[in-house]
Amino acid sequence: MANFFDDNKALRFQIDNPLMDEIIRLKERDFRDYGKETYAPKDTEDAKDSYNRVLSLIGEITAEVLDVNAESVDNQGVRIEDNAIIYADGTKENHKALTDAGVYGLSLPRQYGGLNFSYVPYVMAAEIVSRGDCGFANIWGLQDCAETIYEFGSQEQKETYLPLINQGYTCSMDLTEPDAGSDLQSVRLKATFDEKENCWRLNGVKRFITNGDADIKLVLARSEEGTTDGRGLSYFIHDRRDGGVTIRRTENKLGIHGSPTAELVFTDAKAFLVGERRLGLIKYTMSLMNGARLGVSAQSVGLSEAAYRQALQYAKERQQYGKPIIEFFQVREMLAVMRAKTDATRALLYENARAVDMYKVYEDISKERTLTAEEKQTLKKYSRLADILTPLLKLFSSEYANQNTYDCIQVYGGSGFMKDYPCERMYRDARILTIYEGTSQLQVVAAIRGVVSGGYLARIKEYEATEVSSEFAQMRNTLVDLRKDFEACVEKINAFGSTSQAHEFNSRRLVEIAGYLIMAHLLIIDANRDSMFTDSAKLFTKHAQEKIAERKSFIENFNQQDLEAYKNLTE
Ligand SMILES: Cc1cc2nc3c(=O)[nH]c(=O)nc-3n(C[C@H](O)[C@H](O)[C@H](O)COP(=O)(O)OP(=O)(O)OC[C@H]3O[C@@H](n4cnc5c(N)ncnc54)[C@H](O)[C@@H]3O)c2cc1C
Repeated sequence: MANFFDDNKALRFQIDNPLMDEIIRLKERDFRDYGKETYAPKDTEDAKDSYNRVLSLIGEITAEVLDVNAESVDNQGVRIEDNAIIYADGTKENHKALTDAGVYGLSLPRQYGGLNFSYVPYVMAAEIVSRGDCGFANIWGLQDCAETIYEFGSQEQKETYLPLINQGYTCSMDLTEPDAGSDLQSVRLKATFDEKENCWRLNGVKRFITNGDADIKLVLARSEEGTTDGRGLSYFIHDRRDGGVTIRRTENKLGIHGSPTAELVFTDAKAFLVGERRLGLIKYTMSLMNGARLGVSAQSVGLSEAAYRQALQYAKERQQYGKPIIEFFQVREMLAVMRAKTDATRALLYENARAVDMYKVYEDISKERTLTAEEKQTLKKYSRLADILTPLLKLFSSEYANQNTYDCIQVYGGSGFMKDYPCERMYRDARILTIYEGTSQLQVVAAIRGVVSGGYLARIKEYEATEVSSEFAQMRNTLVDLRKDFEACVEKINAFGSTSQAHEFNSRRLVEIAGYLIMAHLLIIDANRDSMFTDSAKLFTKHAQEKIAERKSFIENFNQQDLEAYKNLTE
């Protein structure tokens, strides 16, 4: 039987990362539930064994159900009937298969029907699902909302909503409005307190909402009259059973046809405050979006994996000029670069997920007892690391998924342009990845902070200091030289002032240099643990060298007057 977890050794490799033992020990509080709760592990090996078994189950369902249904789901799309969104038949089957397997809510604590899995296997499940059907990954991934309810909701909200996730209740994250896209501070949907019913009432419009008629909605709304910025926004739970939301339309889209995108009208819709007033955008949405950005990154890596595998298989079978096209080095190069980019973003994905695991587990422990000074330091260190890695990861993984699906079609030639093969669908599906959960430009706006603060540089130097065998010494030296180039580029651009147009104009170049360096280092560290990554490390280091040289040359030759030409051409 096909299995998208068992057939990919790179996934188990991440479960075996050395930091996982500590993450699991902390997550399981030194295995205190063993013998008391069903499925509670007795030690780290037992926990990893559970991770592998559950991921294998998801891998099998993805290969045997989701992947098989993907084409019909794409053709059928979604429709509205009696103010409800009707999924494609294949989507219903996918959702049922995963619900019946009991794998929704795997990262939630056992008391809420979850398996208390750490973030790494949770993210991995999203990657696997996305390899089968990128659009379905949204329906799967919106269970992220449960994480937010767990972190910031009241005890009553947790007890009401979290156990529903495992039963297959769906979620949505309702932020965007017609005039509030990237700039969520402009959200206008109004929340007013209903004294009589002791609840809030929501009125207004939300646009582009994935899974718009979900059972459980998290809604960003303006609760503070007279405010116009993010400090007037709060977060609310709306329960579909309470009514008050009309689905005005579902969008007719380029890709991810199985994932409904809806415009919604809220009319006195009953809702309950999550956490504290005024923290809706500043704290809760940021936390939810950081999780969702990792979700989109997992979606991107899963799609890249699918694109690589399909292109490779085709290139081995397709004959031209009397030989398989893979024997032409121009084709081989496309495929090898696809492989290296996928490995590089996967390495970054799980580095990021481990950092999230580390700080979240300490945040959770801090609700039970006071952390030691050392633990507080560790929490801070990983929280900062996750903050700088997340936008970098979202930027690169989503752009690479686009490049990889583009190259996949190129490897297929004319056949790739036809609906006969999945690569045409995957190419359309990929296009949204650089847009939702913050566009690539907004990821740069977030990531540039890591350049200016020196956060990336410090992390790069930490990677330089990790021990690797002599086999990797030359690659390491190359990266050390490139890091010096990075420092020179940052120095030159910082001299214009961090709020200058020159800085804004060059920010993507600086962020990308940091990204190339970090991913190349991660691949070398992974290759040092397992030779299956050696060639990707070699190739990606070369790739990084080429890409950094381009950016360095641009920055070296940049001067303020150049900006005039850009302005003149766009007047
Ligand atoms: C299929 C789909 C599903 C979606 N699902 C959801 C969902 O479930 N929930 C939800 O709340 N939203 C959802 N969205 C909305 C999505 O998050 C937004 O579309 C996205 O954040 C961009 O906002 P916008 O479309 O208004 O574009 P705009 O914000 O208008 O951006 C237009 C362009 O301007 C650029 N830009 C804007 N501001 C800046 C800046 N400061 N610096 C540099 N460039 C900038 C952008 O990068 C982009 O290129 C979905 C969208 C789609 C298409």
